[in-house]
Amino acid sequence: MITPIQRYYDKRGEVLVKNLQSRHFDAYYCQTKEEALAKALELIPQGASVGWGGAMSAEQIGLIDAVKNGDFKAIDRSAAKTQQERTELEKACMFCDVFLTGANGLSLDGQMVNIDGTGNRVAATIYGPEKVLVIAGMNKVEDDLEAAVRRARTVAAPMNQQRFMKKNPCSVTGSCADCKSESCICNQIVITRHCRPTGRIVFILVGETLGL
Ligand code: SF4
Repeated sequence: MITPIQRYYDKRGEVLVKNLQSRHFDAYYCQTKEEALAKALELIPQGASVGWGGAMSAEQIGLIDAVKNGDFKAIDRSAAKTQQERTELEKACMFCDVFLTGANGLSLDGQMVNIDGTGNRVAATIYGPEKVLVIAGMNKVEDDLEAAVRRARTVAAPMNQQRFMKKNPCSVTGSCADCKSESCICNQIVITRHCRPTGRIVFILVGETLGL
């Protein structure tokens, strides 16, 4: 039986798909992780080179494993043995056919907010890969852009920091202090408000809680 939260996500998903399309993104809404994985695999051509950077939602729907084990050329920086090799793989992602990423915040009117420490993830989203596939749970969707930025800064970033535990205030308190630490992970705050060329960035919205 459909739950109230699923119904809520379904309705907002329908609105968000239309608003993303009005900004020349491609967009699909899937109720479940399983549907989202099937849709993503339908959109990635066999043999394509596929890269990613910090794509927790793609991992949660099983897409990263499917790419690694499928007929694709995976550019997997986690396989790097040295920092230099990792950096080379991040750079190689700039030329891949399909780049997988997530969203730290989405506004219901169709804008995406992402925060990045190194910058590789937002750089590849902005320019380079032929296609960008954004996998995002409906828990990322806020009513307006201001709230989406607030979510990215005060929820997603401090949560993300708990994976790295660098010497930043949010590692200690769990809250953003708008720091200027040398190890700050919030160096780039990017709003993607429109897509050119049309359809380069494709959203797969999932009616479940995913990512941070
Ligand atoms: S305290 Fe610094 S590193 Fe932590 S979320 Fe805020 S700006 Fe980012």
